[in-house]
Amino acid sequence: MTGPASPRAEIVVDLAAIRHNVRVLRDLVQVDAPVQLMVVVKADGYGHGMVEVAEAARDAGADWLGVATIDEALALRAAGDRGHLLCWLSAPGDDFAAAVAAGVEVTAYTVAELEEIAAVGGGARVQLKVDTGLSRGGAPRADWRDLFAVASELEHAGRITVTGIWSHFVASDEPAHPMNDAQEAAFREALDLAAGAGLDPEVTHLANSAAAILRPSSHFDLVRCGIAAYGLDPAPGETPRLGLRPAMTARARLVMSKPITAGDGVSYGHTWVADHDTSVGLVPAGYGDGVPRAAGNSASVWVDDSRRPIRGRVCMDQVVVDLHGELPPPGTEVVLFGPGDRGEPTAQDWAEAVGTISYEIVTRIGGRFERRHTDSETSEDGTE
Ligand SMILES: *Cc1c(COP(=O)(O)O)cnc(C)c1O
Repeated sequence: MTGPASPRAEIVVDLAAIRHNVRVLRDLVQVDAPVQLMVVVKADGYGHGMVEVAEAARDAGADWLGVATIDEALALRAAGDRGHLLCWLSAPGDDFAAAVAAGVEVTAYTVAELEEIAAVGGGARVQLKVDTGLSRGGAPRADWRDLFAVASELEHAGRITVTGIWSHFVASDEPAHPMNDAQEAAFREALDLAAGAGLDPEVTHLANSAAAILRPSSHFDLVRCGIAAYGLDPAPGETPRLGLRPAMTARARLVMSKPITAGDGVSYGHTWVADHDTSVGLVPAGYGDGVPRAAGNSASVWVDDSRRPIRGRVCMDQVVVDLHGELPPPGTEVVLFGPGDRGEPTAQDWAEAVGTISYEIVTRIGGRFERRHTDSETSEDGTE
């Protein structure tokens, strides 16, 4: 639909796709044992809208939601979410008291954080993160014993409840990477140490989307799925076909089209020069809206049932595409990326064109795009 009221540029998110993907993932990990599913909705639901995605995920049976920051968790509570909710990235000065009061489970990496959380009172529910090789957040191996000992003391004193122990993979998108086995073994060691210290958490977890799909041995009690819930492939080239459906379509309305002749250069610096007569179209979205500048002369968009390459540099507000001699009228739909069903480029195609991962494409697109949510299962207002 390109009615006169449709905006200059918009992001359309199909919540039915999110629900479908969550069901696929839930069924996938339930095959051999009961494994809970956490849907990760940090960074505004990977650009899809945190609150809307969270509701769709809960509807489809997500047992948990996961976010990075306390602020994100509190925003979910403010929107009415009441289920299991974990956050894992606190910075000095963050308000643990607000998180605990809202029933948000927080993550401690250090003894100092544990003590800060316990000092809040109110029976904090705390998970402990151990670093098994990523060297990012989490307690390094040398600190595991102390962290577990202090956590156990605080728990037995009735000041906190240790609800989980978890870690995060280095290279789960590369199933043959030796770190996968090494981290799983290290995680099991950490769990043994924790048990020795008297801890018996409700959940232990290690897997993100790629590991949830590719590495059943890493499922433990719970898997944390982000990208796959949005329908994107966490490990391109490695993942079996699961029928995941990309939920996001980014599209715009053509501003103008015009002929150009052989020898005409396009956009700043004339990094592309036509070697034959053709036509170009102006698309009103640029790097100010999260269209990667690296898409210049590399990515394509979809206009009138074919792929149209971006010519020349991406500007702040606009890009120019090759219309191959056609002159579609202003207002014609331009799909930057979508599910791919019609042949349009996908976020994965864009990622490959600009040398990044689909996560970055969907999370960064935004700026002046209007975002709306549709539901292809309950209404006709899809992405056509
Ligand atoms: C973002 C994140 C995830 C989700 O990862 P995907 O690859 O998107 O599934 C899981 N766990 C942690 C700790 C994260 O930060």
